Amino acid sequence: MDFLIEQPDTVEEAVRILAERPGAARAVWGGSDLVVEVRDGLSRPEVVVDLTRIRELVEVRETGDGGLSLGAGVPLEHLARRPELAERFGALAEALRAVGSVPLRFGSTLGGNLATASPAADSAPPLLVLEAEVEIAGPGGRRRPALADFFQGPRRTVLGPGEIITRILLPPPPPGARGTYLKFARRRALDLALVSVAALGWPDAEAASGVRFRLAAGAVAPTPLRLPAAEEILAAGRLDEETRTAVRRAVEAAVRPIDDVRAAATYRREMAGTLALRAVDRVLRTLEGGVA
Ligand SMILES: Cc1cc2nc3c(=O)[nH]c(=O)nc-3n(C[C@H](O)[C@H](O)[C@H](O)COP(=O)(O)OP(=O)(O)OC[C@H]3O[C@@H](n4cnc5c(N)ncnc54)[C@H](O)[C@@H]3O)c2cc1C
Repeated sequence: MDFLIEQPDTVEEAVRILAERPGAARAVWGGSDLVVEVRDGLSRPEVVVDLTRIRELVEVRETGDGGLSLGAGVPLEHLARRPELAERFGALAEALRAVGSVPLRFGSTLGGNLATASPAADSAPPLLVLEAEVEIAGPGGRRRPALADFFQGPRRTVLGPGEIITRILLPPPPPGARGTYLKFARRRALDLALVSVAALGWPDAEAASGVRFRLAAGAVAPTPLRLPAAEEILAAGRLDEETRTAVRRAVEAAVRPIDDVRAAATYRREMAGTLALRAVDRVLRTLEGGVA
């Protein structure tokens, strides 16, 4: 199909072009999702706003407080290879390496992965446990919602007309925190998650268990979601069999999976509980100095 390609050099120019043609103009970086949408007739943009010339979108910067700012247009493979991610934001590094394949990751971005708002997006659960914020630029200026408030449903976000994601902000993780990401899929590569779980744990003297956890799951609800009830149970006591059962039940109660061609809802619900416990065990082993 025919469309006009615009190649702005700045965020402001991109926003202006997108805002002038609401509904008809679409932002694109790698195109890995948009090309599929156009091919399948789900989208017919008249103007494609190519974001790849905007320097601001490919910057990775320390925020000065131990946090990190990730440009929305940095290819996923570049992010996955950055030592800062492996050292401080391990769950995200693991999740990025789980996306598709190496060639796909060189041509796709965090901004695109989040803006598509697939419930199975691999970057979302680790970004939720890291309590990331999303910087959005639009006709009214910039705003910075928490990622937890960004997703509104499958393929729906808070992005309004003319708005683009400029960067993803990772606050400093709690001292001593370790994280992991577990993805369960039908194949090892080039497959979306049937269920995924991210866990972040750190020593906390105020928690009765001595360790505080954040947990999030993907592909088991209309949006990726945090699992606060399971987090509270983990903080409340020793991880014995009773606690494990309670955590599993809390996860199973929180998720709202669907039946689809890839898996049944009941299977996804049970796997969410299993993966959550596996992720917790894995983090505990790394916190104790063992091998994850
Ligand atoms: C074969 C294949 C396998 C895949 N496997 C996985 C997988 O295992 N895990 C996974 O999570 N994903 C997977 N994906 C999905 C895809 O690769 C990711 O969602 C990718 O990160 C999208 O990035 P992109 O730059 O290509 O986005 P694009 O296709 O350029 O854009 C995607 C959407 O986001 C919008 N957009 C892009 N950038 C911005 C921005 N900065 N601000 C606002 N809106 C923006 C576009 O308008 C479009 O709606 C797969 C895709 C394919 C084709």
